Amino acid sequence: MNTRMCITCRGVIMPGQWASDPAVRATSTHPGCPTPEQEMDRLAAAGDWVEAERIQCLWDWALKPVPNQLARAAAWYASLGLAVLRLQPGGKTPYPGETIAQATTDPAQITAWWQDTPQANIAIATGRLVDVVNLDGPLGLANWGHLTHQPAPIGWAYTPSGHHLYLPAQQGRGCTHHQAPGLDYRGPGGWAVAPPSWSNTPRGPYLWRQPPNLGGPR
Ligand SMILES: [Zn+2]
Repeated sequence: MNTRMCITCRGVIMPGQWASDPAVRATSTHPGCPTPEQEMDRLAAAGDWVEAERIQCLWDWALKPVPNQLARAAAWYASLGLAVLRLQPGGKTPYPGETIAQATTDPAQITAWWQDTPQANIAIATGRLVDVVNLDGPLGLANWGHLTHQPAPIGWAYTPSGHHLYLPAQQGRGCTHHQAPGLDYRGPGGWAVAPPSWSNTPRGPYLWRQPPNLGGPR
């Protein structure tokens, strides 16, 4: 969010380069790197539709930065009934001195948090309405595909290292690490870093592939 990232090589785009080169701004890539269109063509030819769609999401996100988008997203999740907590900017852990037990749907508290820390990432508490399966890398996605009798996801986000599948909360199911290689389950007491949270790594932000559909009013 503070640093522009080249969509295809994932290196940093220097602010001067972004400011001076319209082609860099239009593609969010370095001169000489594959453009998002070229990269999507390459991935589609290789049959990797999931990664091609992730590139499309990254590009959309780069072209349409929205002011206060973290605060807006946090308020939107709360309006859906999802309890949220602020996380450290660019990170996955709660803001210093706060815990996931403080996650809330209270609009006043959420406004106060993001007014104080506009770049704070967003946690959605799991085990309350939704659970989240964290799939790390291609292995996680493959192993999820091999599991049977899993509920259909009600939301799907890209993470810097894989995917988050949002499922209806399943009572009594806790957090299990490495349920299968590359696969963690987040239930009561856990949380998921939610879009459009950003990452200190060069892998880019969390993005919705399919925003949560909780079946209620929007
Ligand atoms: Zn590049």
